[in-house]
Amino acid sequence: MAMFVLHGKTLGGGVAVGRARVLSTALRDAPQRRIAPGEVATELNRLDVAIGRVQAELQAIAQDLPVDAPVEAAAMLDVHGQMLVDATLVEGARTRIRHQACNAEWAYAAQAEELVEQFLAFEDPYLRERVVDVRQIVNRVLRAMLDNGPHDPRAGEAIDSLVVIATEPAPADLLLWRNACAFALELGGTASHAAIVARGLAKPTVVGLTDVASLIRDDDLVVVDGDAGVLVVNPDPELLEQVERRGAEHRRHRVRLQSLLPLPAATFDGVPISLQGNIELPAEAIDALAQGAGGIGLLRSEFLFLNRKQLPDEDEQVEAYAEVIRTMAGRPVTIRTIDVGADKALPRTGAESVHPGGSHFAENPALGRRAIRFCLAEPELFKVQLRAILRASALGPVRLLIPMLTHPSEILATRRLLMQARETLSERGQRFDPAMPVGGMIEVPAAAIAADVFARNLDFLSIGTNDLTQYTLAIDRSDPRVAALYDPMHPAVLRLIARTIAAARRARRPVAVCGEMAGDPLATAVLVGMGLREFSMNSTALLQVKQALLDLTVDAARQAARQALRFD
Ligand code: PEP
Ligand code: MG
Repeated sequence: MAMFVLHGKTLGGGVAVGRARVLSTALRDAPQRRIAPGEVATELNRLDVAIGRVQAELQAIAQDLPVDAPVEAAAMLDVHGQMLVDATLVEGARTRIRHQACNAEWAYAAQAEELVEQFLAFEDPYLRERVVDVRQIVNRVLRAMLDNGPHDPRAGEAIDSLVVIATEPAPADLLLWRNACAFALELGGTASHAAIVARGLAKPTVVGLTDVASLIRDDDLVVVDGDAGVLVVNPDPELLEQVERRGAEHRRHRVRLQSLLPLPAATFDGVPISLQGNIELPAEAIDALAQGAGGIGLLRSEFLFLNRKQLPDEDEQVEAYAEVIRTMAGRPVTIRTIDVGADKALPRTGAESVHPGGSHFAENPALGRRAIRFCLAEPELFKVQLRAILRASALGPVRLLIPMLTHPSEILATRRLLMQARETLSERGQRFDPAMPVGGMIEVPAAAIAADVFARNLDFLSIGTNDLTQYTLAIDRSDPRVAALYDPMHPAVLRLIARTIAAARRARRPVAVCGEMAGDPLATAVLVGMGLREFSMNSTALLQVKQALLDLTVDAARQAARQALRFD
């Protein structure tokens, strides 16, 4: 077969070559057969045995979770365990076996399709998204019944030369295959649970590959280029040689980068630049520190709230923030208040209003009650977090960051709630830093255009280029079909960034970029040239940006910025 290329979205991790292992999508391929009345008991038994086997599998995975597994992984296993014994699914399938003469696979798959339809009909986007979990658990049971081929790694198998190809893998599946050399996945959004786990595995990964599981066969030779976002099937010898060279270069490069750790972050001509880390979970602060982060520029606190049955209370939040503060040992920690909504949903607690989507389905969730809009609509919930952040500020240098500001009145409303939170703490006799800086994310074009107003009313600004790009270009950042149009270097986006940096500098307020662009060494010169002196990024990018800085003079950076703004 000739070489061909599939294009997806990059999740990073370099390049690797290996033999494909396609994780089957059994739901599509369940065999259908009418059974004789004498076979009913056998088929019922096959269903029970398969469910029992999957139950044991899930327990084994849960026990075997690596200590550094994301908290989402355990929570997802829990959800899958509950779905496995869901009465609609199991009893419905049993009824089909008994009364409709269906074989076990057919009965179970048909019942699952009905359940999927029910989930898809929900108005609530959070519940609709759970279709993914239903499909994953159903696939596991069907595979257990069919026993058709490898899904979990075979005992003694050399996994590190395999490339995992899958449609919608469960985070648990990815952890089972964590030693594979690369991942090529159909799932679209880079913010999905599986994408978060995959990114943490730091292997070459491409997502958003349409139909990848049907186009690739087991044992096909494939190249996954996580940096370019492509999957090459049946690579020719020339490409293989290139991959080999790039792999070796990648390894040498990592070693060279480590040697930059002791050097201060500064341009070639000695202008100091602050490089900080973005983290989702407190434990990740250790990686940020190990890669030389001078602080945490963005703690995405909503990750403490996702995939849980119950929201963390004030004490638990204080402990989570305290862990980061302890790790960072005196370096600043910027805690962003919860940014839920759009593709991030809170757990359901019974109170409908706690769900950012509310009871009505939002047509455009990214434009809906997201982030600070949600928090201001839920002041009691928000004040719990504000009190927790204030209490954390007594333990070290903490800065509070408000996401998705659109209207200056949102700053005022937040400050009012902060005042109430301070009063409560004072009444309780609990300590906090009365001078804790309050900053805002500039990630909506309105805020960037009026950046001077926001700068005057805030202690610092942080530019969220991920959302700023999405909202400026009207391109859904998690939709793989328009991913090719998503471009933070678009001159309109660059102009908004430049304008925000200039406004902050005029108002003498610190300004950072904390979107993915901050970690892209190709954007470093342009940002420095615009006057940016503070970057916050995923810790894996810290040293490569440091290297770009060390090779850069401010004059060269200014020229790069001028050219980029003119789109030359
Ligand atoms: C951004 O939008 O650039 C940002 C940093 O926030 P998030 O990616 O969490 O939306
Ligand atoms: Mg954002």
